[in-house]
Amino acid sequence: MMQDLVTEKWEDFLKKYCWDRIIELSNYYPERRSLPVIFSDVDIYDSNLADMLLEDPDVTIESVTRALREMDIPTGVTLDGANVRIIKLPKKVKIRDIRSNDIGKLVGIEGLVTKATEVRPRVIEAVFECPFCGHIFSLGQSGRQFREPMECEKESGGCGRKIQRFKLLVDQCKFVNAQKVRLQESPEELRGGELPQTLDVNLEDDISGEISPGNRIVVVGILRSYQRMTQFGKTPFFDIYLDGNSLEVKEEEFEEIEITEDDEQEIMALKNQPGVYEKLVGSIAPSIYGYHEIKEAMVLQLFAGVPKDLPDGSRVRGDIHLLLVGDPGVAKSQLLTYLVKLAPRGLYTGGKTSSAAGLTAAAVRDEFGEGRWTLEAGALVLADKGIAAVDEIDKMRKEDRDALHEAMEQQTVSIAKAGIMARLNTRCALLAAANPLGGRFNRYDPISKQINMPPTLVSRFDLIYTMMDKPDEERDTRTAEHIIKTHYAGELLARLKNVGKVGEGGEERLREQMRTMEPAVKSELFRKYVAWSKRNIFPVMTEEAKSMFMEFYIGLRRQGYEDEEAPVPVTARQLEALIRLGEASARAQLSDKITVDDAERVINVTTYCLKQVFVDPETGKLDTDWVTVGTTKTRRDRARSIREIIKELENEYGEEVPLEEVLDLAEEEGMERGKAEDIIEVMKRDGLLFSPGSGVIKFVR
Ligand code: ADP
Ligand code: MG
Repeated sequence: MMQDLVTEKWEDFLKKYCWDRIIELSNYYPERRSLPVIFSDVDIYDSNLADMLLEDPDVTIESVTRALREMDIPTGVTLDGANVRIIKLPKKVKIRDIRSNDIGKLVGIEGLVTKATEVRPRVIEAVFECPFCGHIFSLGQSGRQFREPMECEKESGGCGRKIQRFKLLVDQCKFVNAQKVRLQESPEELRGGELPQTLDVNLEDDISGEISPGNRIVVVGILRSYQRMTQFGKTPFFDIYLDGNSLEVKEEEFEEIEITEDDEQEIMALKNQPGVYEKLVGSIAPSIYGYHEIKEAMVLQLFAGVPKDLPDGSRVRGDIHLLLVGDPGVAKSQLLTYLVKLAPRGLYTGGKTSSAAGLTAAAVRDEFGEGRWTLEAGALVLADKGIAAVDEIDKMRKEDRDALHEAMEQQTVSIAKAGIMARLNTRCALLAAANPLGGRFNRYDPISKQINMPPTLVSRFDLIYTMMDKPDEERDTRTAEHIIKTHYAGELLARLKNVGKVGEGGEERLREQMRTMEPAVKSELFRKYVAWSKRNIFPVMTEEAKSMFMEFYIGLRRQGYEDEEAPVPVTARQLEALIRLGEASARAQLSDKITVDDAERVINVTTYCLKQVFVDPETGKLDTDWVTVGTTKTRRDRARSIREIIKELENEYGEEVPLEEVLDLAEEEGMERGKAEDIIEVMKRDGLLFSPGSGVIKFVR
């Protein structure tokens, strides 16, 4: 009776608040089976009902679902399999704040999906046959374990015998689609150093299969617990999971950053300050001395270019990828961590990760899936719509190295394994740092060789910086002064925090020190400024900027026109990068146009990188093969000469030719002896030559 009353009340509510949506649903039923019910509507209608929903969701959701399923609808459809989905709870619980008194309650939780199983049917009503009397009866299934009958069901006319095994009639069972996902606290909710906590969520029927790893979602559901087991049996500890009731995917990357009207005024004030761009650059990692060019590139990366759908249906990324290659101890890791803290949706990881998914993604079959395959997101998927900082990327796994090509350019990772066919998004900017193989960087080997990355991958970075730790007295002095200054301020601060006072007039000194350390644009405003810009600013190239890009690019390519043998100067990739950088530069000033100034600025940025990385140190000529093919024109020429010399000597000596002779002849042709030796070493490594005995070399045929 009591229950009927409640159901009646719900029916009244549904008619008053959800009528249009119910009619619409009935038009699409049964393809669509969910009726969203906004929590605040229930609260306005009757706050007691709303309380019941939160406090006793199992019974309450059943009542409202019954009301919906039994409703008379003018379209003549009966929604007998529809679900009520409660959305927009007023309060979201953080995963780490879940406590025992939340068990059995309806809660809203927000997080990042790190894993998702494939969708598989789960039996909700199992039908059994008694092997003695042939009686057929059913048993509802709701828990984590499969329930089997102990005896033949008397109430429905069975024989009541206790037996071990009843026959399961699979084709008469009722099933529902089911998926399990793992939700992780959003990285931006974590305070420094906290490890993210997770919660597993079961999703059933039409809300299963809707989300992928890497999605950020808000899920409403009933918190449940189950007893933990060890090999010695049950323990007094319980684990929790969520029975999902509703699901919303958050699309907007900057939703997390709220911008008030006051903020907006502050953003505009900053924009109108002279030299705002320089201020932004100066505000990146103020405790790190120097590296102005790298910090500038980081600013451009934060703002990003505009992702574009081209008229022919292809998509071009707006994200800017940066690579820092350098000696140990030059603050690479520090720069990475700083940017991650500043960037919305920033994620920091090492190249060598412990999870199966690594940097991209993986399909695994472990206990999480309870028999199903699980798709697990790696770093770049989790950083979707943010920035992924990957330190020591040279240590990444081989699988990642292969998958990264697609992840960086198309911004997806595809997985096809064991029935799982999935494509996950990696729409993030990559900020990578690499240590050279030998520990130290050397100018005479191409970057890709030194950092153990294929040249094709290296060429996908828009900008590459080398950071060499060469002793230089002036620079060293200034760096040392800077480091001592920051550490001194840190010492004063630590004393203030722990002792309560600095002493000896230290407060004044501390304030002064802090003033010199503080970024011109504070992090909070910086983030809001970036978020506002990325939401609102979509700049286009002015005619002048277009022709400047054109001229710059053609100017670089010209080197290749005059002489067919000339090295490949730059490729269209660099032109695309240039345009992206131009867009970012305009965005950094909240400008709708890419002006001459922007064009000039990013041409300078690009030239700086090209000079550092793409110029063949031996010829001084621009040669992107240095990066993209892993060798240079001069090297190729040299290898060719060596080959000719060996062939010539074969006429005289037979297949095994004396090494000294080869080097002598090479020297006669004007090649330095050391260089010739180098090339021969490389050719040996590449399996073209070998030494059958000491002092002789021979072609591998
Ligand atoms: P890497 O990752 O390149 O090996 P780290 O980021 O670990 O180097 O830096 C080593 C330490 O040296 C850090 O504590 C960093 O702050 C300091 N350091 C190096 N170069 C600078 C610099 N230019 N300014 C300030 N600190 C620096
Ligand atoms: Mg490091």
